Amino acid sequence: MKPIILISNDDGIASPNLRSLAAAIERAGIADVLIIAPERERSAASHAITLHKPVRIRQHGPGWYSLSGTPADCVYVGILKLCPRPPSVVVSGINRGYNLGSDVFYSGTVAAAVEGGLRGAPAVAFSIDPSPERDVEASLPFCLALIASILDTGLPAKIVLNVNLPVKAGSRYAWTRLGERSYRDDVAERSDPRGEPYYWIGGGVASSQPQPGTDCDAVTRGIVSVTPLHLDLTAQEMLSAEKHPPLDGFEHVSLERQKQ
Ligand code: MN
Repeated sequence: MKPIILISNDDGIASPNLRSLAAAIERAGIADVLIIAPERERSAASHAITLHKPVRIRQHGPGWYSLSGTPADCVYVGILKLCPRPPSVVVSGINRGYNLGSDVFYSGTVAAAVEGGLRGAPAVAFSIDPSPERDVEASLPFCLALIASILDTGLPAKIVLNVNLPVKAGSRYAWTRLGERSYRDDVAERSDPRGEPYYWIGGGVASSQPQPGTDCDAVTRGIVSVTPLHLDLTAQEMLSAEKHPPLDGFEHVSLERQKQ
């Protein structure tokens, strides 16, 4: 039986990049493909999950589904309801636009991969340069090679890969850490036709010198960036009480020591 690759995104079911990636995986014949993506664009949906209203699945063809929910909903429903057996890899993307540095906290593309990771599947998110010159076709060989490698050897538990593809991917890639992406912080105030104020949140990307070794550094140099993300967000180095000032009137209890 062939392994299953579950594909989702946050740009929505109509995204041409989703179709290109799915078609490339199908052509390679390495797995059965199951696509479930939001019925409309849900970029920057982060890890939102729809708990307070129903979601509906629509089938577009064999193995092709859209959902009236978020990217995280798609992977949740895909794994629990649509996959006949657990997916061997969950793939998200290819997102139109980078997900670098702090973007990973807002990204629906990354969230779809994270949902796969939280459910025990090896998972990878792909994002590409947003400029009109971006070459999705040129990025497909790297995406396929990485997916094939994950199919082969899996990933450590609780690790999700966040891949950013430069405007035209070549044969070079680098393992990177999250960089710092700077945006022009902005809340623009405008007036609606009735004279009431409304607001646009979020400014454009501000150019800055990327730190060496980061995801931002790699794509700026035309190199594919692969960042391993840990789903355990605990700051291990902050766990010992000696690192913190004592709290007056309270006793710190070390659970680890208590256990022994
Ligand atoms: Mn998107």
